[in-house]
Amino acid sequence: MRFSNLWIAFTVAVINTMSSNYHTHSTYCDGKDPLRAFVTAAETLHMEQLGFSSHAPVPFENDFGIAQEKIPQYCAEIDQLQKSTNVQLLKSLECDYIPRMSTPFEEFKTKYHLDYIIGGVHLVRPENDDRLWFIDGSKREIYDDGLANLFGGDIKKAVTTFWEQTFEMIETQRMDVVAHLDKIKMHNQHRFFQEDEPWYVALAEKAVHLVHEHDVVMEINTRGLYKKRCDAFYPSTELLKLAHKLDIPVIISTDAHKADELDLYRTEAIEELHRCGFLNLVHFDVEKGKFC
Ligand SMILES: [Zn+2]
Ligand SMILES: [Zn+2]
Repeated sequence: MRFSNLWIAFTVAVINTMSSNYHTHSTYCDGKDPLRAFVTAAETLHMEQLGFSSHAPVPFENDFGIAQEKIPQYCAEIDQLQKSTNVQLLKSLECDYIPRMSTPFEEFKTKYHLDYIIGGVHLVRPENDDRLWFIDGSKREIYDDGLANLFGGDIKKAVTTFWEQTFEMIETQRMDVVAHLDKIKMHNQHRFFQEDEPWYVALAEKAVHLVHEHDVVMEINTRGLYKKRCDAFYPSTELLKLAHKLDIPVIISTDAHKADELDLYRTEAIEELHRCGFLNLVHFDVEKGKFC
């Protein structure tokens, strides 16, 4: 075996030894399977750690977040499941950052004794406006309608608002992991803007630098690929390369909403991380209470 082949084999082994998934959604929020089903799937996959990250409550009626009054039950059920599995179970919420609206992430972490917080932007709030642009979900029409109605079809203004909201989240919220950093590209599908346009590159790269400055873990999120809503991981290759250059710690998330999504595109994510220069994934150290 040539040295280069040996090195590749070694790095694959290093990454494979830390099988885990810290980003999952059960029937407590918009997921389709109960917690127990995820634990069974994690056991089958010989995962070491499994984190539950229901969408946190937001201050308006919705059908995607966990109900505030259900959070104690959610935590108690995770504690109960821990008694009958060797997979280390972790408690988290995926918190939405909406300027002048969302609850500070730290409040959830403290109140419910969560292990970590995933922060993300799914709803973009235009300046001086109470309406929200939903950039996620399965329907491209909602993205297109929001762009037309909330931003007058000005894609640069809309996308800039998304990134500025992301900057504000990283700068003002205490969070451990940033979710799907460039989710804004999902429903764009190369129609309204191109990811190599200088104005877009400047915004996206600024976000990566902020992730680095604020010691936040970056996830490589596979959901867009297996749901066939996007042709790339979040974040895209160029941003992952920059993250590697800055030595930002990474985890692989499938953002599973069903138990059988727990390791979808995990192998491909490992290959992508190798291509971008990464040799290691971080894992959650329960004693230290952080990813390292
Ligand atoms: Zn999300
Ligand atoms: Zn999620």
